[in-house]
Amino acid sequence: MRTIIRGGTIITPHQTLEHHALIIEAGRITAIVPGPGDAQPGDTIIPADGLSVAPGLIDVHVHGADGYDTMDATPEAIHAMARYFAAHGVTAYLPTTMAASSADTTAAVENVRVCPQPADGAAHLGVHLEGPYLSIKHKGAQPPDHLRPPDPAEYNAWFASGVARLMTLAPELDGAMELIETGVRQGIEFSLGHSGADIDCVTAAADRGLRQATHAFNGMQGLHHRDPGTLGAVLVDDRIYAQIIADGVHVHPAMVKLLIRAKGLNRTILVTDAMRATGLTDGTYMLGDSEVIVAGGIARLATGSLAGSTLTLDAAVRNVMAFAGLTLPQALQMATAVPAEALGLAGRKGVLAPGADADVILLDGAAQVVMTMVGGKVVYRRN
Ligand SMILES: [Zn+2]
Repeated sequence: MRTIIRGGTIITPHQTLEHHALIIEAGRITAIVPGPGDAQPGDTIIPADGLSVAPGLIDVHVHGADGYDTMDATPEAIHAMARYFAAHGVTAYLPTTMAASSADTTAAVENVRVCPQPADGAAHLGVHLEGPYLSIKHKGAQPPDHLRPPDPAEYNAWFASGVARLMTLAPELDGAMELIETGVRQGIEFSLGHSGADIDCVTAAADRGLRQATHAFNGMQGLHHRDPGTLGAVLVDDRIYAQIIADGVHVHPAMVKLLIRAKGLNRTILVTDAMRATGLTDGTYMLGDSEVIVAGGIARLATGSLAGSTLTLDAAVRNVMAFAGLTLPQALQMATAVPAEALGLAGRKGVLAPGADADVILLDGAAQVVMTMVGGKVVYRRN
């Protein structure tokens, strides 16, 4: 019993193949063959004529959508988010926390740990802990009352859950280097963010295994020619993958292009940083204990500070094509193979290749999502 996707343009994303068929069996891609694929009785054929066949998108930084948030710490929240993301081409994501009390963060982590993978949506690959060990000076919309220096008892308990996958922290805080060393030994990825770390501090963190920067430009010390700041350090350290919110609001389109020029396609990760109002109408929503006003799709605290986005990852792919003059395969790379590699999942996720999970999307000529498949199962089809 195989599934054969035939007739489309296959974007692996490192290669573009015409007149090939993608063969799927038991949730995995088993082959990509020239021609229509040798269909046997019982095989399922998915025609993709006129469409692009691409790896599913991976969002490593997303708080919520469709009225729900990771911090709700309910199975319904994970389920609703998973369904919403699948409709936007996302096949895997990291539910992302924000700075909160120890108990609230533990509840959010525990919820993801026990939550089964939804049968009709994107898979969760573990938690992205955004905070609470962040700089008050660069807090953005993070609640200042919940920002604190690293506490080993607290973070060791989160790491012991087995679902902590990525942590955003300010490496200049007391105890941050020890935290990175401890987590890296357990396979946890670290990202600097909401940080004013200078270049020496960023280098020291990268020496200890930190490999990402959270929403580059936002929530970090900016560039100066006599003081490269946190951003300058991120731009020049080739070990560091830079996340970017390509909604055209958080970062000017020209600066998105500049980031991609500095980091290259293979070190830039498109993220949404989406919050619960994503997919809903303008209005007033809660982000932690703070009220957020969404107007024209832009989410802000009463102070005017941006409070997450209402961006979807498929829109980020389309935006970055326009912002930086990229082709669809180039833009897709930053939302598929690169985030997978940054999570240590190279070859298994984010690519169409034999042996990889059958996380596949079909896109029309305008790069809009037509179908989403997770682990060989179709979870979304556009009407
Ligand atoms: Zn943030």
